[in-house]
Amino acid sequence: MLLSGKRVADKIKADIIHAVEEYKKNGQAPKIAILRVGAREDDVAYEERVLKNCRATGIEAKVVEVDLNIDMQSFVDELNRLNEDTDIHGILIFRPLPEHLDMEEISKIIKPEKDIDCMSPVNVQKVFTGDSDGITPCTPEAVIEILKHYGYDLQGRNVAIVNRSMVLGKPLAMLFLAENATVTICHSKTRDLKEITKMADIAVTGIGKGKFFGPDYFSKDSIVIDVGINFAGGKLCGDVDFDKVSGQVSAISPVPGGVGTVTSMILLSHVIKAMKLQKK
Ligand code: NAP
Repeated sequence: MLLSGKRVADKIKADIIHAVEEYKKNGQAPKIAILRVGAREDDVAYEERVLKNCRATGIEAKVVEVDLNIDMQSFVDELNRLNEDTDIHGILIFRPLPEHLDMEEISKIIKPEKDIDCMSPVNVQKVFTGDSDGITPCTPEAVIEILKHYGYDLQGRNVAIVNRSMVLGKPLAMLFLAENATVTICHSKTRDLKEITKMADIAVTGIGKGKFFGPDYFSKDSIVIDVGINFAGGKLCGDVDFDKVSGQVSAISPVPGGVGTVTSMILLSHVIKAMKLQKK
């Protein structure tokens, strides 16, 4: 089975549109603020995708571009203005920030209930303590959403995650645990990786190496979620060699059109969640 991200994203999008309409009926307009330092090409491209999704869902957007050489205090002042602005419900800061801006300090300043990209240590802690009353990192949430959308009961499943970063592997392991799955986290020093991924019911790949995983990493019953984003020969591809693997496993998410598509929509769903948290 092809685990298309588009179908999942469309469902989330429909839910957001409905929520935005309800808020607007009550005179409230869900609004995101993007805080961007400088105009790096990939930041601007990402911003365009976010703004396109905002237009498609009715979420309002404000872009705050600050100078590449902005000092820490001025950046914090800018962030605090957004923190205190009651018309802004979600704040997105593009990362990585220039080195002279203290990322750790900034992540402590963003209001947790406006932190739609899960930077704040308060939200990170909630993921790790199993408190669902916070905002989770978008990509791990997208992985779980895809599996749930296609009807997989995660309870008792053996999951292998090949990634131990804070963006993906570690928080994702917590989300799977919250679903009562059994999780193995793998990384570049893992021995017998093939055996572990092959034994797992669900294998999540996120190593950033194009077409690294061939059919020998999986079994015919494997459910494969490919998070990797790579370019090979000018074309976007995942960590899994899709052409060789797709016919040999039970289900697989494609790249492009898989996790990334869902992640973008999850980000906007967090604006709605943030509004609910701010009301509390
Ligand atoms: P990262 O911090 O570089 O983490 C890569 C992980 O892969 C590390 O844990 C690393 O192990 C492990 N690894 C590397 N080579 C390996 C190998 N040969 N065997 C086993 N493990 C190996 O990268 P990241 O930020 O987490 O992102 C990972 C990938 O996901 C990238 O392709 C990125 O573009 C993609 N991504 C996609 C989305 C999306 O929405 N689809 C979002 C975020 C990231 P060590 O810890 O031992 O180094």
